[in-house]
Amino acid sequence: MKDDKSPVWVIADQESCNLLPVTPQLVGKSRKLADDLGTTVEVVLLGDGVDTQPSNLFASGAERVFLGNDPALAEYHPDVYTDVIVGLAEKHKPQIILMGSTSMGRELAPLVAARLSTGLTAHCIDLNINADRVLEQIIPAYGGEITIVCPERRPQMATVAQGVFPLPALDEGCRGEVVSIDGPFVHTGRVEILEVVIEAPEGIPLDTATCVLAAGAGAGDLEGWKLIVELSKALSAGLGCTRPAVDEGWAELETMIGQSGKMVSPETYLGIGLSGEQQHMVGIAGAKTMIAVNNDKKSPVFSQVDYGVVDDCRDFVPVLLEKIRQYREKQVSC
Ligand SMILES: Cc1cc2nc3c(=O)[nH]c(=O)nc-3n(C[C@H](O)[C@H](O)[C@H](O)COP(=O)(O)OP(=O)(O)OC[C@H]3O[C@@H](n4cnc5c(N)ncnc54)[C@H](O)[C@@H]3O)c2cc1C
Repeated sequence: MKDDKSPVWVIADQESCNLLPVTPQLVGKSRKLADDLGTTVEVVLLGDGVDTQPSNLFASGAERVFLGNDPALAEYHPDVYTDVIVGLAEKHKPQIILMGSTSMGRELAPLVAARLSTGLTAHCIDLNINADRVLEQIIPAYGGEITIVCPERRPQMATVAQGVFPLPALDEGCRGEVVSIDGPFVHTGRVEILEVVIEAPEGIPLDTATCVLAAGAGAGDLEGWKLIVELSKALSAGLGCTRPAVDEGWAELETMIGQSGKMVSPETYLGIGLSGEQQHMVGIAGAKTMIAVNNDKKSPVFSQVDYGVVDDCRDFVPVLLEKIRQYREKQVSC
């Protein structure tokens, strides 16, 4: 496999016919991987009404787009999308397939990997080509990072969350080849899509928030969590969480920050009642100023932030809320 010039693939992710940012981010990263391998970047784009999107993919660094533009592909369907991608992959033999850790990618990537009898690394935080021309798939683990490789099987497959890689500089002059994928696209009936509901996110979106408040197991219970929600509103902050807050049912999975959640880059990050585990902290690596509140002065979170407050969050949050209220009152009366 040393002289393998087969392409690097990205499976595009779109919503309402617009590419999600993770797609050009992955295309940009694939450009670097493909250059290191001396090969091409190709994208599989499925949907209905997505035929204007290939130019954006070429501008991001792709050379070829396999385009399935058909009413039967309008909504993501696990069986149909898997069949199409597996069929193409068996024919064109990409050496790498990347997908976003999106709601589609989280399901589709393992389905495709299983059908192609290959490995898959979920939620990578970096990707590189090593001296053996093998894809290094890096994830946080054991308090640091580990590198996973798949030397024996092809394609090498990985998912990456939105925001891990930057958007590439666009070169609008770049052109490439569009290859139409012919149907029919057969729905087996094993899975039937009854309705697609896109929930409007509550509060300030984490992706664009200048201040992010994240809380974890230390919130204690639902009452404690309500205080956290109140504080996020008072601070006009995007509200994120750690895994235990999701497991306890206090917060939605979509608001989890970290390796298997969202990547955020706010001006200010305030972490309350969380221990600073690597899997969470990789999600806030882009934050400018970081503050943590924890009742354990030896908590590892304190060595990772700019400012630390040793306090019980049940005491700290009501006091901070009161201070904010007083500050706002003063501002109004001035
Ligand atoms: C493959 C994999 C992927 C993962 N992905 C993610 C991910 O994307 N995001 C994520 O968050 N996690 C992820 N996890 C889980 C992660 O490893 C940690 O278990 C999790 O982040 C810990 O959450 P926590 O800090 O809230 O809880 P804990 O580690 O239990 O820490 C709670 C902290 O709260 C403090 N505390 C307790 N009571 C109070 C109080 N009254 N006031 C103030 N402080 C208090 C404690 O001192 C402690 O430091 C992943 C794990 C794996 C294995």
